[in-house]
Amino acid sequence: MLRIENVKKSYGKYRALDGLNMEIKPGALYGFVGPNGAGKTTTIKILAGLLAPDEGRISIDGMDMSTAGQDLKGKIGYVPDHFGVYDNLTVWEYMEFFAACYGIEGLTGRKRCEFLLDQVGLERRRDFYVDGLSRGMKQRLCLARALVHEPKLLILDEPSSGLDPKTRKEFMEMIMEINEQGTTIFISSHVLSELSQVCTDIGIIEQGRIVLGGSMKEILERVDQSNPLLITVYRNAERAMGILRSHSCVRTISIKDNCFAVGFTGDAQDEALLLQQLVDAEVLVNGFTRQQGNLESLFMQITDHKEQPVLHYEGRPGT
Ligand code: ATP
Repeated sequence: MLRIENVKKSYGKYRALDGLNMEIKPGALYGFVGPNGAGKTTTIKILAGLLAPDEGRISIDGMDMSTAGQDLKGKIGYVPDHFGVYDNLTVWEYMEFFAACYGIEGLTGRKRCEFLLDQVGLERRRDFYVDGLSRGMKQRLCLARALVHEPKLLILDEPSSGLDPKTRKEFMEMIMEINEQGTTIFISSHVLSELSQVCTDIGIIEQGRIVLGGSMKEILERVDQSNPLLITVYRNAERAMGILRSHSCVRTISIKDNCFAVGFTGDAQDEALLLQQLVDAEVLVNGFTRQQGNLESLFMQITDHKEQPVLHYEGRPGT
């Protein structure tokens, strides 16, 4: 549905996007996550046609963005991170105005507006003035407006920032419903936990590049492998330390009392072989498990990556 290849964008000398690559499959609910200033809004403005990239290629639904022009605009719905000012427009007038911009008028236009206001739960507010709506209601109206021309791809820039937790949850449920009805969704946030619960795919951007991306399933598998192995040793901890230090999959070791937390890059078979090696060396192991982790811990590890193995002692192993 959406392919971004080696996109670069600078503001003066500052490079906001530094070779961005992403692929979003049709039907995905893609979470685009990164800290403040990572380049999310810049990416989204480029996708929405509001900024031009300096380099790189973007295609949406098989059409090259640099040549497709207006045809492409019909495929995209865009919810920006701020709501404009619409003095003296009611909710209904606002919807009709945007429908008319896409040539959706008359009975078809009215039915479409009614359907969308119903979908976002604003049907009873159709005669309210837009500027009198709460922030959450404005965000829902903005969502309805972005869907008026039935886009294949809906792009949302931090739509839930500034909303209270309940309104945020309701908004995300609406997004999931729209996705289930067949619209591909690209949604940004700087809060990883907010999107990791609902997205099918995720891309984490930092300093203008994707540092982690893929389907949630693949990434959660990586999460499992990125958490430390917790090994508790009843006897012969010094010997265990010798084995761990010389093991090719061990990146980091920290020890407290007789419990080792081991950064371990191996898979399940490597884990089993390590356990066997310890037992064969007559190390009495009374605990051997992967620590439970989450996407946040993986993100922290990736963005705080160290090239060299680190051995960290919080105490000496006993015997
Ligand atoms: P936030 O979560 O804070 O909205 P973001 O991930 O959306 O951040 P961008 O707004 O894309 O990040 O900004 C990326 C970088 O580019 C930031 O360092 C920002 O200061 C810089 N930047 C963005 N717009 C401009 C501009 N118009 N002129 C100069 N620098 C800009």
